[in-house]
Amino acid sequence: MIDFHCHLDLYDDPDAVVEQIRFSGAYVLSVTTTPKAFIGTKRLAKGNKRIQTALGFHPQLAHERQDELHLIDHLMPDARYVGEIGLDGSRGYRDHMALQEKVFRYILKATAISGGRVMSIHSRSAATRSLDILEENPQAGVPVLHWFSGSRAELMRAVEMGAWFSIGPAMMRSAKGRELVANMPRQRVLTETDGPFATVDGRVLFPDDARLAVAEIADVWGKDPAEVDRQVTVNFRSICEIAERFQRKPALA
Ligand code: MN
Repeated sequence: MIDFHCHLDLYDDPDAVVEQIRFSGAYVLSVTTTPKAFIGTKRLAKGNKRIQTALGFHPQLAHERQDELHLIDHLMPDARYVGEIGLDGSRGYRDHMALQEKVFRYILKATAISGGRVMSIHSRSAATRSLDILEENPQAGVPVLHWFSGSRAELMRAVEMGAWFSIGPAMMRSAKGRELVANMPRQRVLTETDGPFATVDGRVLFPDDARLAVAEIADVWGKDPAEVDRQVTVNFRSICEIAERFQRKPALA
């Protein structure tokens, strides 16, 4: 089971979730929403190698936390993964787009200087802008577009740029989400939950719920869930290798 985007530190009882992960053997990318949260969130994993912590700065917080931006440079060497980062053009956030872009660019530059990373990307209502900025910063690494909700054309552009995708159960609840997943390259799809933000039928999702996404993807692809599970596992191994390769690369002077 692979949950490539969840917020461990934001659950009511993170230790209980870590225990659950230990028990189920799930692999988890624990993304942070602020640079300040990185060290504490990494500590939550208690050395469990199946939990990797990503250094993030959620675009919805860009305008409130910009004083934390400088921490990115300091923390980057200790982060094998970056996320969640990106842009949010939805109501209430689009007013801060210029600042979001500044934060996003800053982090991509820091990521490039550190040799690149695998990055979990938020692009809600801002897919084209997010892709533009990723395209300007090819040295930043490999983007994994989380809960992608762009158009079919934006999807095709992202695929051409070499982007990956992480798919959660909530995304599969919409016809548009399912349609996008139907058109994604099978070798670049991972599962996620986006818990505790994401819910299904009013229930908060936990990392083990990534299995629900496997079942839904199988349905859309017309495959057996076991086959999709194998594919996602193979994909996960590839993305881990990519992340390790980035980390072995020396940082630019
Ligand atoms: Mn998230």
